[in-house]
Amino acid sequence: MRHTAVLQFMQLQLKRPWEIRETLSLAVAESFGRATSTAKCLRSWERSWISSRYIKVGLKGKNKSAYSWLEDEGVLLAMREYIASVGEKLTSLGLAQAITEYLQEEDITNKAEEVNKILFHKSESKKSILERTARNWLNKLGFEWKDVRKGVYIDGHEREDVVRYRQEVFLPVLQQLFHSGLREWTEDGTILLKELPAGEKEKILVTHDESTFNANDGKRRMWIQNNAQPLRQKSKGRGIMVSEFLTPRGRLAVPEHISIDGLPRRQATEYLEYGQDNYWTGDKMVQHTLQVAIPIFERAFPGKQALFLFDNASNHNAYASDALLVTNMNLGPGGKQAILRDGFIHSKGIAQSILFPDNHPDLELRGKAKGIRQVLMERGLWQLGMKLNCKPACTDPTSQTCCARQCLRLEQDFQAQRGSLQEGIEARGHLVLFYPKFHCELNFIEFFWAAAKRHARENCEYSLQGLRDTIPLSLNSVSELTIWRFYNKCQRTMSAYRDGCQYGTADFKERVYKSHRRKLA
Ligand SMILES: [Zn+2]
Repeated sequence: MRHTAVLQFMQLQLKRPWEIRETLSLAVAESFGRATSTAKCLRSWERSWISSRYIKVGLKGKNKSAYSWLEDEGVLLAMREYIASVGEKLTSLGLAQAITEYLQEEDITNKAEEVNKILFHKSESKKSILERTARNWLNKLGFEWKDVRKGVYIDGHEREDVVRYRQEVFLPVLQQLFHSGLREWTEDGTILLKELPAGEKEKILVTHDESTFNANDGKRRMWIQNNAQPLRQKSKGRGIMVSEFLTPRGRLAVPEHISIDGLPRRQATEYLEYGQDNYWTGDKMVQHTLQVAIPIFERAFPGKQALFLFDNASNHNAYASDALLVTNMNLGPGGKQAILRDGFIHSKGIAQSILFPDNHPDLELRGKAKGIRQVLMERGLWQLGMKLNCKPACTDPTSQTCCARQCLRLEQDFQAQRGSLQEGIEARGHLVLFYPKFHCELNFIEFFWAAAKRHARENCEYSLQGLRDTIPLSLNSVSELTIWRFYNKCQRTMSAYRDGCQYGTADFKERVYKSHRRKLA
């Protein structure tokens, strides 16, 4: 487990370089059913692994031109879709073709040629693929070429709980919202008039995502195993992270003809130069949403309700410090444990303080945290000799009798605890929906990133200063109509899933790409 966890930790740092190590290590620890102490160990294991096995590498020549393509969300999606469709029959030639097809689909034919030059060795025949380049692309997706060929790679996209959430929660909830006032447009931007159900406000979809523009001028490190085969590239260098909100008709901003008095700015976009000690955290995400995006939305769409769509990243599920979480509690009273907000005992219909009252007969306990045991006793759920938790994990995830931690965790008030992002948005009268995990093809902002990065690539050399100057122009270069088409592509993808299509199949592609072309003809 140790080795796998360290690998996952490093991989996650590569994917989300703007997040602090603490957040990422905790996410990995939690995926193994562990908590903060394991996360701490993970960080030290990783450090020892680094000190004994890494080399620094620079980027030059061919690799440099391939570099920013590895950052292109559209290309990554095309690769993912190809892998999903062929499974074990994956070849590097097929992979190259899938990418080329995507670039042609997006009408970037000259770019398709450029990628061909990178993927196909210039001096050899067209059939010969630069194998290592193809492998690097796969690594970027988190796959090991060797594992992919054996068909043993694990892709959470088809995981049972993920598919169930997509089919039984995400898609039906969104569909329902279209029937209760979620705004729709025609191609030319005309708003489709809808009758609002009683008591419902008109709703505007606002999607969010973060993306990085990594500067090429920073040092990059390459991971090697004992046999000196490159394992993972670790791009925790310097760069600019962009946190952006899009509506189906463009970037979230206050229109030019409306005053921005009292607002932080006109455009909701947030930039963060990461690296050194500057990271994007859950708190910054909450701040960006509540203090920037929502005020801008309310000025731009007065009286309307926003439906915010976020991906399922750990950053977006951060909890308030007083949230009802059993992992923040000890078994006994006092000591080092968080001061939590009141709970609610649904079986008795009464609120419950998680702290001892200030007039408690035991002076020592006044105002102190009660701890899980006391809280359970007051709920009539404590059993003599109950352990804090099961090791290594509870065998029955629905049992309220196996251990104290799970017993309390399964209580209705603890189950209803949401992250601070969701709590903050709902408190302001707006709505939140999370995309299914591993389903970036459903978020139209991914294609927006791809288009913006193409612009940046053509207009600057990816130095930090170049990026500072160019990114705002690149984001602006993606037109309202282009964003609208990306949105529609994702709507077709959702509709294909609704009708039971499998990701990457011919059927699926027909629904997402071909049917659209026929309509245009
Ligand atoms: Zn248990």
